[in-house]
Amino acid sequence: MGTRRKITIVGNGFASLFFIQYLLALPVVPFFAGFLRRLYSRYDITLIGNGRFTYYPAIPEFITGKKGRKDVCLDIRPFLRRRHIRFVDAVVTDIRDGGRTVIANGKAHENDALFLGIGPAFLEDDIPGTREYTLSPCNGPDDMERFMRRIEALEEGIVYLGFKINRRDGFAAGRGGQMYECACLLDFVLRQRGVRDRFEIHFFSPNLEPGETGAITDRLRERGIVLDYGYEPAAFVAGGMQDADGAFRRADLVLYSPGITGSRLVRESCLPVSAGGQIEVDRYGQVAGLNRVFTAGDCASHENPPPWVPHQAHMAQFRARAAAKNMRAVLNGDSSAATYRYELSCILNMENDALWLHRAADDKPPFWNLFPRHSKRLIGIKNLFEKLYLFYLRYL
Ligand SMILES: Cc1cc2nc3c(=O)[nH]c(=O)nc-3n(C[C@H](O)[C@H](O)[C@H](O)COP(=O)(O)OP(=O)(O)OC[C@H]3O[C@@H](n4cnc5c(N)ncnc54)[C@H](O)[C@@H]3O)c2cc1C
Repeated sequence: MGTRRKITIVGNGFASLFFIQYLLALPVVPFFAGFLRRLYSRYDITLIGNGRFTYYPAIPEFITGKKGRKDVCLDIRPFLRRRHIRFVDAVVTDIRDGGRTVIANGKAHENDALFLGIGPAFLEDDIPGTREYTLSPCNGPDDMERFMRRIEALEEGIVYLGFKINRRDGFAAGRGGQMYECACLLDFVLRQRGVRDRFEIHFFSPNLEPGETGAITDRLRERGIVLDYGYEPAAFVAGGMQDADGAFRRADLVLYSPGITGSRLVRESCLPVSAGGQIEVDRYGQVAGLNRVFTAGDCASHENPPPWVPHQAHMAQFRARAAAKNMRAVLNGDSSAATYRYELSCILNMENDALWLHRAADDKPPFWNLFPRHSKRLIGIKNLFEKLYLFYLRYL
């Protein structure tokens, strides 16, 4: 018992859950798994988080009403119990001693190895008024439910949707794809309500070149969405936006995703901070300059990334797999050797159509090219991935 190595995991989002998946073998008999692990386990694992997992990829579907809070929020404690992982319901406020001590709700937790999956923070101070006058799907179900209540109360109006990307770490730290999806789904429901002609939908981003073309732009154009590519408001204000020249643009509702950065914990603890405000990390998932501290997911920068790679659950999976292998190696006295691939892959659901957006550093196609890249049938595949993953979290 005394030789068990103490591992602390912070956060219970995609990165941490993928990390657990790759660190521990899948229980063969899930019902007895917790008991068996108590008898035999090489690790003594503690996870510090809020116990609630959010399946963000389904949040845009709040717009069509096909998904709601109960579909995307899941109590993760039974998953942890089956793996004999101790759960601490707390917020981590500091990391000390080069990572060996984590402070959560005023209490110190010591570890032999640490994994951080603490997710993103957003550059909400970048454009004044972001907090007060915009909503974002990236803030989870509360914001999305508020957005839907306000849309449903409108008989007519002007809606702006947009995003901004933080490029200071050399990659696309932002949520473009999700916002395109929200714009197309909004067009769909307004048509379904028979009121689309009474609404203007605008799509804006300072990170898009005016005149930019491509498959996504074609989908927005075919839906009559006004393309404000290149536009960045100077401020969000009551009833709309203010432009750099002082002009006022009316907007009844704004759904906006600011660029991604690291949270306060990243800035205010012993963690090294990248130029973009994220945890500085190498290609093995090791936090720069700290021993036996690993990270993955939206809180972490990359070492020499391709400029197009975004933060995604998909990338969090690749990164968490490498981090789990490397943590095991390091705890066995070996060096980290596992790296990860760069890939962008997601299905953009437009309800009456869908696109598989895909790009890989090694040019590998998704699933050996078994699926079409542009077909409404992709929506069924996206739903299947979601069902399988949530089944795994609930029962395995
Ligand atoms: C609307 C939307 C749609 C998306 N669609 C897709 C998609 O189709 N495909 C795809 O691959 N990706 C998609 N993504 C991106 C994906 O959801 C993220 O990349 C993923 O959630 C990142 O995982 P993470 O674990 O790094 O962060 P998160 O999932 O945000 O988890 C972070 C965890 O850390 C916890 N935490 C944070 N700070 C602390 C602290 N101080 N103490 C304790 N716990 C803490 C949080 O409570 C949470 O449990 C989408 C995102 C959004 C918002």
